[in-house]
Amino acid sequence: MKYDIIVIGSGPGGYIAAVRASQLGKKVAIIEKYATLGGTCLNVGCIPSKALLDSSHHYYDAVNHFDTHGISVEKPTIDFEKMVARKATIVEQTTGGIQYLMDKNKIDVFEGLGSFVDATHVKITKKGIIEETIEGVNIIIATGSKPATLPFISLDKKRVITSTEALKLKEIPKHLLVIGGGVIGLELGSVYKRLGADVTVIEYAPKITPTMDADVSKELQKVLKKQGMKFATSHGVSAVTNNGDDVTVTATDKKGREITFTGDYCLVAVGRKPYTDGLALENAGVVLNDRKQIETNAHLQTSTANIYAIGDVVAGAMLAHKAEEEGVVVAEYLAGQKPHIDYNLIPGVVYTWPEVAAVGKTEQELKDAGVAYKAGKFSMRALGRSRASGDLDGFVKVLADEKTDEILGVHIVGARAADLIMEAAVAMEFRASAEDLARICHGHPTYSEAIKEAAKGAWDGKPLNA
Ligand SMILES: Cc1cc2nc3c(=O)[nH]c(=O)nc-3n(C[C@H](O)[C@H](O)[C@H](O)COP(=O)(O)OP(=O)(O)OC[C@H]3O[C@@H](n4cnc5c(N)ncnc54)[C@H](O)[C@@H]3O)c2cc1C
Repeated sequence: MKYDIIVIGSGPGGYIAAVRASQLGKKVAIIEKYATLGGTCLNVGCIPSKALLDSSHHYYDAVNHFDTHGISVEKPTIDFEKMVARKATIVEQTTGGIQYLMDKNKIDVFEGLGSFVDATHVKITKKGIIEETIEGVNIIIATGSKPATLPFISLDKKRVITSTEALKLKEIPKHLLVIGGGVIGLELGSVYKRLGADVTVIEYAPKITPTMDADVSKELQKVLKKQGMKFATSHGVSAVTNNGDDVTVTATDKKGREITFTGDYCLVAVGRKPYTDGLALENAGVVLNDRKQIETNAHLQTSTANIYAIGDVVAGAMLAHKAEEEGVVVAEYLAGQKPHIDYNLIPGVVYTWPEVAAVGKTEQELKDAGVAYKAGKFSMRALGRSRASGDLDGFVKVLADEKTDEILGVHIVGARAADLIMEAAVAMEFRASAEDLARICHGHPTYSEAIKEAAKGAWDGKPLNA
């Protein structure tokens, strides 16, 4: 069978590329090695983690916050099996939705491992048996990523686990050790902390969420500490041992002292690595860079002209929405359009509570680039909306160019930050100034008023409610 476009991998990058290409009149096939579509994001990433975050949030509120609202419930209890089953149902419904989209857009779905025969032919193998070989004028590689580990850690997937196992544990850990204070470690750490586990996060860098704005990291750590999460930053892990019923993590602190931590589970959340196993890229002449990502140019074209690559398997932020944008861009480019992605405007979100979200540059990045900037910061605590809901932690920080007032970065810690950040992304897409944002009428009472106030702070140094 011959197709205009073959997509390998059905995560948010691959399935969106397939849909967009089909919308633009291309004959499209998608190959997925697992029985369900949707990739990491829908099966073992964004969606199941958010389902458990929401469930655990409700429980945490019932235990800790209902009383202040004058609501008393008998001691809330957890049916963990039911909570995990609910998550599984949501995953099932969501991945089923992708199958529906494939049918609706007349995209042929092949289940099996896709590997290159040459630059235009991909063979599909299922259970070791070659099912079929299909031909594509263009091929899009969207094979995503897998959890990374450290060379001395053996992931037994029972006590020493990755995010995939952490999403389907049979019990709530008593003490979860988390190696890595990045997004995945903090989100899954939050789930189990809220459900009653002790959680200790061990991070090599001096701060959690190391790539985010320093103020954000500091505030988030402060708030999570208040929730009972423990942190060992500036700790380099040197060994992880599964002792049968528990796990020992050995680390060295910044003074060179050896510290051991013991828990019943250890979540290794040190990042993810691009996944290209089984693709037989050498048959198609596709090369990797030194970080084992597929090397691409600005059009996401690989070293072989008719083959493109998108999402976690190429350079850049490992985020579902980044993969989706790249899927759209490649499909449109192959249809003769001139699409564009502004990588500076890809928002980053951490679904702790309060949430964290950011777009554009951090203060450190502006300093490093020698850009003169001004900052406006507004505390969530000062908002009527925050007092009404009781979500008092966090702030909005707006960074703007010292001379032109153009918004260069927005950083939020606070309730619903994940949704709030999009106002900043829209403003920055249209190259708004801090004054523009400050002059837009915001509904009252809303959390978004903190954006307006922080923007006013950046523009004229005079927020109205502070
Ligand atoms: C716990 C967790 C939580 C996350 N939460 C978020 C979040 O809230 N927001 C966010 O933006 N991102 C989140 N992410 C990251 C997000 O899941 C990824 O960035 C996203 O899934 C990348 O999409 P992708 O299409 O590049 O690859 P993937 O989603 O990894 O999909 C790749 C697909 O390709 C298939 N495949 C691989 N090789 C082959 C082959 N040879 N033949 C056939 N099929 C193949 C794989 O089976 C897989 O289904 C999270 C990740 C994790 C682990």
